[in-house]
Amino acid sequence: MTAISENRTIIQDKIRAAAKKAGRDLSTINLVAVSKKQTPARIQEALDAGMRLFGENRVQEAYEHWAALKPSYPGLKLHLIGPLQSNKAVEAVALFDCIETIDRPNLVDALTSEMKKQGKSFPCFIQVNTGAEPQKSGILPADLPDLLIYCGEKGLKINGLMCMPPAAEPPALHFSFLKKLAQRHGLPNLSMGMSGDFEKAVLSGATHIRVGTALFGERE
Ligand SMILES: *Cc1c(COP(=O)(O)O)cnc(C)c1O
Repeated sequence: MTAISENRTIIQDKIRAAAKKAGRDLSTINLVAVSKKQTPARIQEALDAGMRLFGENRVQEAYEHWAALKPSYPGLKLHLIGPLQSNKAVEAVALFDCIETIDRPNLVDALTSEMKKQGKSFPCFIQVNTGAEPQKSGILPADLPDLLIYCGEKGLKINGLMCMPPAAEPPALHFSFLKKLAQRHGLPNLSMGMSGDFEKAVLSGATHIRVGTALFGERE
């Protein structure tokens, strides 16, 4: 298995090249290391390589990976990038620093009430189902304005959008669509692009690219 630090250098070179091509400032692009289904040894290797921004897609697994480690790394940030059930809001608010997958009012209710209880709050992203795929989570683009208003009423700060394009379609179309939606609503962050398409995402304006296998190798 390749060293994570080597993979990271390769990824960063590609990010740099794409940013240059797009005329973008490199500092606006965040590499989110997706540590789901990786071993503790691989996660430690990423930490030792200096990585401090990680993504997990399940609350339970995120606890197994991070509950004991996180306190030892004060600058470490964890993003939830998978669907969240309202009854896991307690755990999610306690562990994460950003939830990228806000997609319905009752989740906003659960999170804002938990944030109040825990005295902890952080800006989140709304996940948009840009391909309107029935099996995928995320809000439909047409319903985004109402959800943003709802978040505003409830006091949940939203500062970005996230998407996972349909596998069978050119991702760039979805990336530029998400960017347009974010611009329309004045949202600065765009979480889009994974191992296979992060360069395209950077060209389309991604501020957060979520990379798992290209960084860690194949999942367990
Ligand atoms: C697993 C996952 C990723 C990372 O996928 P790779 O192809 O391994 O880079 C990104 N985003 C989400 C939402 C994921 O679940």
